[in-house]
Amino acid sequence: MQKYERLEKIGEGTYGTVFKAKNAHTQEIVALKRVRLDEDDEGVPSSALRETCLLKELKQRNIVNLIEVLYSERKLTLVFEFCDMDLKKYFETLSTPIDQVTVQTLFYQLLRGVAFCHSKNVLHRDLKPQNILINKNGELKLADFGLARAFGIPVRCYSAEVVTLWYRPPDVLFGAKLYTTSIDVWSAACIFAELSTSGKPLFPGSDVDDQLQRIFKLLGTASESTWEGVSKLPEFKQFQEYPISMTWEQVVPNLNNAGTDLLQLMMVCDPSKRISAEVAYHHSYFDSLPNYIHLWYTD
Ligand code: ADP
Ligand code: MG
Repeated sequence: MQKYERLEKIGEGTYGTVFKAKNAHTQEIVALKRVRLDEDDEGVPSSALRETCLLKELKQRNIVNLIEVLYSERKLTLVFEFCDMDLKKYFETLSTPIDQVTVQTLFYQLLRGVAFCHSKNVLHRDLKPQNILINKNGELKLADFGLARAFGIPVRCYSAEVVTLWYRPPDVLFGAKLYTTSIDVWSAACIFAELSTSGKPLFPGSDVDDQLQRIFKLLGTASESTWEGVSKLPEFKQFQEYPISMTWEQVVPNLNNAGTDLLQLMMVCDPSKRISAEVAYHHSYFDSLPNYIHLWYTD
């Protein structure tokens, strides 16, 4: 008998298809992710197997739990704990704006999850609302952590959909190849802004140039004077100076002063000047965090 009974399809991912399933012995509901690999003929690369084994040890309450890895018929199936929905669907189902305490509690959990992975030297590299899962009781869990290292950075989704640029930092858009934790901090900041506006993407660019223009119109155009080394990035090109037409208050009108300050500390074009996720979750914006959230982290 099969250990997992497949139920409905829940998503078409970057690396494969995701199904809801039930453990036939324990009745536990899980999410099965069948990973498609380019090297189909040669089976699963040993590097992917090694990396997924490491991910199994990555346990924290804001990381979706990888229960086990099944390897059969030269295919790889990742078994995850099941979550109710992803953040993109959550935004779509909202009928009223998200209240700012919920924004605070969700973003705090996001930063705790990111900081934990960074402390274990694991990067995400593709943080976006579809990769963030939430439960009915307000818990947030990051999905797909470490998969980029295991299976390569996605260029195109399995479903032929183009990978979104909206959460990519300017250094990556200019072709930086050396990925550091700062990439996830930028993406997290974009998601913070989006949470505060109940799902309005901050920089919904249509291609790399448009993406960079949108960023520079808010933060100022990157140049050697503000960001040392930018002109040496592989795909650097000089953009014109755009007049700054929007204030932070107009961009994120619902964030208080502390929230706007935190956003600006994370959203810096020069990756070496972005604060870390750990410093971010200690910011005074979270001074008024509900106490029950703190209790989640006291063991
Ligand atoms: P993406 O396409 O954003 O990389 P995934 O490949 O992880 O996302 O999965 C595709 C979709 O399947 C997700 O956006 C999410 O809606 C859903 N999904 C993935 N894992 C889970 C899970 N553990 N519980 C519930 N839904 C999930
Ligand atoms: Mg994903």
